[in-house]
Amino acid sequence: MGMPVMVFETYRSQERQLNLFNHGATKLRTVGVHHYGLACDIVRIVGNEPCWKGDYSFLGQLAHSCALIWGGDWGSPQIPHTFVDSVHVQRCTIARQPELFAGNWYPDTLYNPYAEAEQHLMFASVTQPRKPAPPARAKAGSRSQTA
Ligand SMILES: [Zn+2]
Repeated sequence: MGMPVMVFETYRSQERQLNLFNHGATKLRTVGVHHYGLACDIVRIVGNEPCWKGDYSFLGQLAHSCALIWGGDWGSPQIPHTFVDSVHVQRCTIARQPELFAGNWYPDTLYNPYAEAEQHLMFASVTQPRKPAPPARAKAGSRSQTA
């Protein structure tokens, strides 16, 4: 696509997660899928610097083609997202995370989060009560939304 990008982070320790949390760079105190080697943050390079801003919808298309879930696509396209992390991709659905974190499940090479059997898990958040939308998305694309 002619757009320079870089892998900014893959594995993340709990210590680093807490550090990011304490600096306001994430809403999540406890490290998530990054801790299991199943997530990756990919950012554009602008002026030799990593850049979190701008349109990352291309990453959604790439993620889908690689059986990854894109952080800009949590939940359902019909429901307004309350948590957008547009530079983040991961190898499992949100609904699979509790099993992963409990040590009861890990995706094998054949696992496909878009497979028919996984569809009910992929959009599991749709069945949960909706939270009111945040007042503004002024920080969309900034580092404040890192998962
Ligand atoms: Zn991430």
